[in-house]
Amino acid sequence: MDFRLTPEQEQFRDSVIAFSRKHLAPGARERAHASGYPWDVAKLMAGQGLLGITIPAADGGQGGSLMDAVIAIESVASVCPRSADVIQAGNFGPIRVLAEYGSASHKNRFLKKLLSGETVISVGMTEPDAGSAVTDLKTSATPDGDGYRINGSKIFTTHSAYADVILTYVRFGPGVGGIGSVLIPTNAPGVRRGKPSTFMSGEEWAELHFDNAHVPADMVLLEEGGFKKQIGGFNVERIGNASRSLALGRYAFERARGWALERRQFGKLLAEFQGLQWKFADMKMQLDAAQLLLYRAAANADRGFPSPDETAIAKAYCNRAGFDVANEALQVMGGLGYSQEELVEYCVRRCRGWMIAGGSIEILKNRIAEGVFGRSFSQR
Ligand SMILES: Cc1cc2nc3c(=O)[nH]c(=O)nc-3n(C[C@H](O)[C@H](O)[C@H](O)COP(=O)(O)OP(=O)(O)OC[C@H]3O[C@@H](n4cnc5c(N)ncnc54)[C@H](O)[C@@H]3O)c2cc1C
Repeated sequence: MDFRLTPEQEQFRDSVIAFSRKHLAPGARERAHASGYPWDVAKLMAGQGLLGITIPAADGGQGGSLMDAVIAIESVASVCPRSADVIQAGNFGPIRVLAEYGSASHKNRFLKKLLSGETVISVGMTEPDAGSAVTDLKTSATPDGDGYRINGSKIFTTHSAYADVILTYVRFGPGVGGIGSVLIPTNAPGVRRGKPSTFMSGEEWAELHFDNAHVPADMVLLEEGGFKKQIGGFNVERIGNASRSLALGRYAFERARGWALERRQFGKLLAEFQGLQWKFADMKMQLDAAQLLLYRAAANADRGFPSPDETAIAKAYCNRAGFDVANEALQVMGGLGYSQEELVEYCVRRCRGWMIAGGSIEILKNRIAEGVFGRSFSQR
């Protein structure tokens, strides 16, 4: 067993950090507070080969491993936390499910533009009455002529305010077995964006309404019975979510460490107070433990989807560690940490959301407990 990156991985990490320092360090703070999607960053990253890292070269990607994508997202986040969202959207989210299960025509129509940073895709699972209990979703796909009529609503969909296409979980029939997914272009007739809103992190989202929206039959990504495959792909999204939690916690930690070596009170450096040294020791232990769990899940996946159990453990742990560390880093920086002069408060706000998004910590712990006891526990 070797806990170090390979020389190739180190080289890749260093090249992404160098690229990020050159292109993303300027304006990193402003980017975190800007609305909309950073399209300029997306195009830059496309040019650098940082979108579609795990997507096969035949489909326009880089043919790399999940670890490569994790290294990329961590390296970008270490310089510009907000830009890591572009790595997420271009590698870990619904784009990966589209690349895995999409037809040649789906790839031709959507994937090319996604990989060139011109468009972005969202995943619409959550509904007003189906959050953690996602299999309660009601959005229906009813056969009609040469396609389907879609009716229902989605909420909290990341990037929904400007996405080109929504990978939408729908119900073709009753029960879990009736769930599948459809690609719905946001300009399709019957698709309507409702009330815009923002999360505490500043991320924008809009309600999505499908009012008898018609999609041709070839827009079906996964037919009924596809829920398990869908969630298998969603574990990749969870790894990206865990990576950003950890990376933003680490970003805040590094800022606080630098500050503790600079700021003097009572005639001493902050780093010289034992009460603060122990905070740093606790932060460091959490970061290191989270890192190992994240790399285990990513490295074991290689070019495939990560294991559900290792992903659940990595995400739950990284979400908690990222938030706790960012929050402690803010405390160490005092008023400056709480101010928008620094990105530490942004890291705290972003990390808070990942404890809920993509399978809350509680739901992941339910899954982990099932592994512990070797049986499933109905939540109903
Ligand atoms: C930043 C952010 C981005 C998001 N992006 C997307 C997106 O792109 N696409 C999308 O479809 N959705 C998205 N979501 C929605 C997200 O998936 C849901 O918020 C999440 O699944 C929880 O659902 P809920 O908010 O309805 O909470 P609820 O399901 O109502 O849960 C409320 C609380 O109860 C807990 N709880 C519920 N059931 C159990 C149980 N059985 N055991 C123990 N505790 C339980 C939950 O953990 C939570 O703490 C996003 C959310 C956030 C915060």
